[in-house]
Amino acid sequence: MQIDLYRPFQGENEKNIMSWLTDTHIHLSDDEYSQDIQFIIRSMEKIKIRACCVSMDLHSSEKTLDLSKKTKLVFPFVGIHPEKASNDLDPIVELIEKNSSQITGIGEIGLDKTYVSNQDGFKRQETVFHKMLSIAEKLNKPVSIHSRSTLEEILSILPSYSISGVLLHWFAGNKKQLKKTMDLGCYVSYGPAMIYAKDKQVLLSETNSDKILVETDGPVRFSRCFAMKTAQITFLPSVVFCAAKILKKTYDVLSYEIGQNTNRYLGV
Ligand SMILES: [Zn+2]
Repeated sequence: MQIDLYRPFQGENEKNIMSWLTDTHIHLSDDEYSQDIQFIIRSMEKIKIRACCVSMDLHSSEKTLDLSKKTKLVFPFVGIHPEKASNDLDPIVELIEKNSSQITGIGEIGLDKTYVSNQDGFKRQETVFHKMLSIAEKLNKPVSIHSRSTLEEILSILPSYSISGVLLHWFAGNKKQLKKTMDLGCYVSYGPAMIYAKDKQVLLSETNSDKILVETDGPVRFSRCFAMKTAQITFLPSVVFCAAKILKKTYDVLSYEIGQNTNRYLGV
């Protein structure tokens, strides 16, 4: 099908192009959203947004699973965030194994030295991260990875695992690291910060088009045009709109492409 990039889609033949957006990394089980969750789910239905809801620890993993029972628009990701790496591993492993058919993916997992004060703390993060990756490999689930200032370590760990969908969320590496990430076949996601941060826009333009995903990482608060308000899932179309402008594609074409990338990442 010939597509005119500068004309909005219309008519029967192009209907399949219109696609749902997916926020590939948001903490909808965070207490910040508890009061408004019904409203959030309703707006997701209205503006056609699905979400990979990531977890931090056992408690939020249970909340994520509960939420995914209320709506098909939430894909549950469970796991232990590097900030919570000192938590007991056994209960979360048990939870994952018991609910493996309901769980979409493993996350948020990863490494982050800003949460530890010594080498032992980092060693513990590595142990937890390895355990989470091996579960994802065993259960054939995608992973959502936090890699703040630890990209080198993470990029050297990943080749020892065979996981089909690996997302380095909120990608903030340099161009060389991005190249390495692409060579490993990983996905990267960009969020609200890309709308005002030039360095993120440059990274986006250097990312393989079949590896781009979008996210909000709510309830993170973003500055500039977002005025430090709690990130909402409804920010997502603005992220896609900005990315489309940078990549010189129409909103519809880019959201279709990102939709295809998301399906491949999730294995659906
Ligand atoms: Zn997160």
